[in-house]
Amino acid sequence: MICPRCKAENGTRTICSKCGYYMYHPDVLNRVKMTKGERAKEDAKIIWKKIFRVLRVVWMILVVIVMSLVILGVLLWIFPNASLG
Ligand SMILES: [Zn+2]
Repeated sequence: MICPRCKAENGTRTICSKCGYYMYHPDVLNRVKMTKGERAKEDAKIIWKKIFRVLRVVWMILVVIVMSLVILGVLLWIFPNASLG
């Protein structure tokens, strides 16, 4: 295998011995064989992954807000005379 970055011959190696470039990319190889429909499916998967990542962050923020409200509520329940200031 010839390194696409430094053009060094590496035989059967998948990682370049000269520059350390990782030559084997299963995603890229699979993408070439994909039909339009399969590509659209893959793109949808990637978009959903992004949406889920955003939702996870939103969910975490919500959990933090709810947790702090619960802690505040418990504190106010334990110390009803404490002022928030
Ligand atoms: Zn290289």
